[in-house]
Amino acid sequence: MKNMNKANFTGSEITEMIVGLNRLARNLWWTWNQESQEIFQDLSPRGWQNLYHNPVAVLHEVSEYELRVRLQDPEFARRVKDVLHAFDEYLRDKETWAAKNAPEFAANPIAYFSAEFGFHESLPIAAGGLGVLAGDHTKAASDLGLGLVGISLFYREGYFMQGVTADNWQQEYYRLLNPRNLPMEPVLNAQGEPVVCSVRVAMSQVYFQAWRVNVGRAMIYLLDCDRPENEQHFRDLTLRVYGGDSTTRIMQEMLLGVGGVRLLRTLGYSPSVFHMNEGHAAFLVLELAREKMAEGKTFALALEETKQECIFTTHTPVEAGHDRFSPELMEYAAQKFKSQLKITTEQLMGLGRVHPENAGEPFCMTVLALKGSRSANAVSELHGDVSRQMWNCLFPDLPKEKVPIGHITNGVHLMGWMKGPVRRFWRRKFSTMRMETPANQAMGDTTSFWARKPTFSWESEVNSPAFWQRMTDPAFISDEELWALRYKLRRELIEFARRRLLIQGQRVTERDYITFDHLLNPDALTIGFARRFATYKRAPLIFQQFESIVHLVKDRQRPVQFVFAGKAHPRDDEGKKFIQHIIHLSKYSELQGNLVFIENYDIHVARQMVGGCDVWLNNPRRPLEASGTSGMKAGSHGCLNLSILDGWWREGYDGTNGFAIGGDTHPESIEEQDRLDSENLYKALTEEVIPSFYNRDAMGIPRQWLQRIRRAMATVVPQYTTWRMVQEYVQKYYQVH
Ligand SMILES: *Cc1c(COP(=O)(O)O)cnc(C)c1O
Repeated sequence: MKNMNKANFTGSEITEMIVGLNRLARNLWWTWNQESQEIFQDLSPRGWQNLYHNPVAVLHEVSEYELRVRLQDPEFARRVKDVLHAFDEYLRDKETWAAKNAPEFAANPIAYFSAEFGFHESLPIAAGGLGVLAGDHTKAASDLGLGLVGISLFYREGYFMQGVTADNWQQEYYRLLNPRNLPMEPVLNAQGEPVVCSVRVAMSQVYFQAWRVNVGRAMIYLLDCDRPENEQHFRDLTLRVYGGDSTTRIMQEMLLGVGGVRLLRTLGYSPSVFHMNEGHAAFLVLELAREKMAEGKTFALALEETKQECIFTTHTPVEAGHDRFSPELMEYAAQKFKSQLKITTEQLMGLGRVHPENAGEPFCMTVLALKGSRSANAVSELHGDVSRQMWNCLFPDLPKEKVPIGHITNGVHLMGWMKGPVRRFWRRKFSTMRMETPANQAMGDTTSFWARKPTFSWESEVNSPAFWQRMTDPAFISDEELWALRYKLRRELIEFARRRLLIQGQRVTERDYITFDHLLNPDALTIGFARRFATYKRAPLIFQQFESIVHLVKDRQRPVQFVFAGKAHPRDDEGKKFIQHIIHLSKYSELQGNLVFIENYDIHVARQMVGGCDVWLNNPRRPLEASGTSGMKAGSHGCLNLSILDGWWREGYDGTNGFAIGGDTHPESIEEQDRLDSENLYKALTEEVIPSFYNRDAMGIPRQWLQRIRRAMATVVPQYTTWRMVQEYVQKYYQVH
């Protein structure tokens, strides 16, 4: 602490801090460290906002001279030093969970393959939940000290941005990302040149370079085809997330699976496990087999050995979610590769077919992944059941229950999702707590978890059930302060929505004009719905009972309002019709002013919404929501789930910690299901949600509602984290028993 009272820092100390800040900006650790974010925000508040919370870009905006001058402010320099110190401590920490429980992966990491990773809004290379899960998996692996290296593609235009035309039709537009302004670094060889590898695709050799994204202690490599050696159409292979037609798709997947393994080998990795996060990466099975055949092994032996190295997670029971390629396309894209494997077309096609001899059957990536891995899992209990049923055809001799697909329910990375006001709430809570209860700090008092370490950091305990158990104790947190926190979060969302709607409003005609500063009511029960507009998620379901919903919205004593967001897949016109319908209602119907649609759903919008809404609505057509994760992000903010008992909520709901739509069954007929769910949704809303939210005591406090929030925090939050999830992956699947 010798610098504590020093007014000035030496030139070399300042240089050290500048180097440190640049290192920090290029490690996504800052995405789950509030103090880091505040430093970059303070450097340029306007830049932070305009550059969409991107520290690398902010550092490019601030001159080196300004930075040196600003660091002469002792208070600011102190904060920078503290953050850099915490960052170094994090990176150096040897006493991690994995050091004790899974040290073998330090030298031979898990290679985690995913077509998308969602870490933060400043690196928009994810399309949705799959990518966000991969990002949260990586963050937790880093926190736990688990050896993990990720593989994905660098999409130069990322995922599309959503605009809306005058007739409320989704319009996709793309912006070229500038690698220089992103939190990633080129992968270079000893000569300082880009490391370049190649994959044989169709008749061409396709070359790629790579970018490294630092995620705490973990690293992700993004493959990038934009190389001068390639013809233009191959340079564009990595332009967009799931871009183009099935030809682009199969080529992207060859790059991901085959190219990913080659890059890892070139960089000297020998992973102990190859984890395929969804079937997109399944071609890695073929590359691993090829390597073994190059050592002289037969195809059968090579495949058997490969299988022992791979595990596979399936993420959806929706048919369209499983890539299938025609025999012709496979022949075209993989013929050269096939000859390297020295197998026949029938053998190759057989690996992706349920019935290998059926020449008409397309090649399915999920089938390849299942045939090429030692174990497979679904992402919730019910999804496990559905997946075993779905793939029983691959194991015709086994009864459904014996089909070797298990499950690990998804989670979220808590600290990556927790909004600033909630963090400050806990920070303050524990600083006062410690002053008030010095006696608790006595060592050996195992019940007071915050007292275990002399320098307690609440953040290090935030993933433990004991931390959240405290929420059930009104002496620890009063109803009043919890309600105040809820108000703060709701207002933040509403003001965010007003700002966004104002920008969107540029496309609205005079007639649709709404006074944006009066849009939405900060006192009203706010219901949120945001996710991909896949039709099975049934975004407009709640408006089926339109007259009744208008009635609820117009109730002056107990008003209800809705915030919607979400993107439809560029080729999904049905999904776009849902968007059109909802925006139309928000502009022209009696719901105007009480229903808003926020354009361009992404991680930032998601964070605002799961934080600020009172209720998180989820009404998929059961059992198609394999898990769902956005509802898990809601928990730590005191936003309650109102959901069909599908995916994770079927396990998470216990009758006291949120709301259920319907029961643990669903009718066969889709029409019947839609009708029933719509009825049950309305019923839950009017009989449980609204009465509970508006049941206030003399002080104006909704005690019952807050009780439910407490239950949700105690039961849901610590259970549905990627900390728990990654530990399960290690123990059930990564480690061989
Ligand atoms: C969390 C998240 C998702 C996934 O949400 P679901 O509930 O699984 O639909 C999708 N997109 C973004 C931007 C997210 O943050």
